[in-house]
Amino acid sequence: MAFSHFRDNLEVLAAQGLYRSRRIITSPQGINLQIDGKKIVNFCSNDYLGLANHPSVVSAFKTAADQYGVGSGSAHLICGHSVAHHALEEELAAFTGRDRALLFSTGYMANNGVISALLGRGDAVFEDRLNHASLLDGGLLSGARFKRYAHADVENLNVHLKKATGNKLIVTDGVFSMDGDFAPLKALSEAAKASDAWLMVDDAHGLGVIGERGGGLLEYYRLDQEDLPVLMGTLGKGFGTFGAFVAGSDALIETLIQKARTYIYTTALPAAVAEATRASLKIVIAENWRRDKLKKLADRFRLGAAQLGLQLIASASPIQPIIIGDSQRAVDISNALLNAGFLVSAIRPPTVPQGSARLRVTFSALHEEHHVDRLLDALDIATTRLKAKG
Ligand SMILES: *Cc1c(COP(=O)(O)O)cnc(C)c1O
Repeated sequence: MAFSHFRDNLEVLAAQGLYRSRRIITSPQGINLQIDGKKIVNFCSNDYLGLANHPSVVSAFKTAADQYGVGSGSAHLICGHSVAHHALEEELAAFTGRDRALLFSTGYMANNGVISALLGRGDAVFEDRLNHASLLDGGLLSGARFKRYAHADVENLNVHLKKATGNKLIVTDGVFSMDGDFAPLKALSEAAKASDAWLMVDDAHGLGVIGERGGGLLEYYRLDQEDLPVLMGTLGKGFGTFGAFVAGSDALIETLIQKARTYIYTTALPAAVAEATRASLKIVIAENWRRDKLKKLADRFRLGAAQLGLQLIASASPIQPIIIGDSQRAVDISNALLNAGFLVSAIRPPTVPQGSARLRVTFSALHEEHHVDRLLDALDIATTRLKAKG
């Protein structure tokens, strides 16, 4: 029977607590979701600022759909690049303090496209061990020599850099997606300069969320285009919409337009998504209270979780994982939390290293302190009960 051995593999995954399945959401995105007719409080979204369903963002989207239609018709290089896309690119360049920005349809594609456009056989790519899958896949696809360095370990990176030949690209998450900690970008930038390497940072979880103006880690560490020549950001997280961009020098962006296959051979984002993102960018810049609120919520959670004896990671972002270790136990706690009315996802290998399954708690600027307190109560009950059972 075709695929019967896949059935066996699926059963193995299930037995290991590694089976993945989807929940069908019937409500809009936000901190309150409806699943199977049941209302739950959402603690696993990347919509950190609460913009995915913000009235001005939704209204910009609708107005633009009336103006431009829904489909973009083709790739950017054929006839899909509208004035809406172009304006958003200019605004993202200004926002990040770069010469130019280039939109991609997804972050996954941006990462794949950029690394392969910049490197090939004979070159070398250096990746933090905990980088997002799209960066790792991009590095492998490029055909360059692929080296992973220990997490946030610049000394270890330097050892690898010394042995390298050809063009060298150092690639890292900014705010790490599954841990919430910050890459040591100042030191990485210095290491890059000293070794004549380029630095690429994927700040999917920092942009909009970190820094006074939401400029992300480049604002936090004050890194200009010389210090950080390849900046990648996504629009589906802090910005609350969809898509991604790369920002940097004119030469970088022109190279990507000519060479990045995931830019050239794919349909452009709908123009209405670009217009919605322009609306969300305005809110990102103007409404610092959203970032202050996130900080307060995370601090309150950390204090409470520490009192419960839960194992946290040193994270100053709205990503606050609780390390559980065993995959099945992480799933069991996540299910118990769902029964209690809280959605917290269990993140397991291979998304995170073996033995480090975790509950990835994330906060939204729309949460209130009472949500945090109720989550802590539920965590206390779920972890204690499941511990007692062994
Ligand atoms: C989500 C994410 C991506 C992928 O972005 P999409 O637009 O969802 O494809 C890339 N890098 C990191 C660090 C991410 O968290």
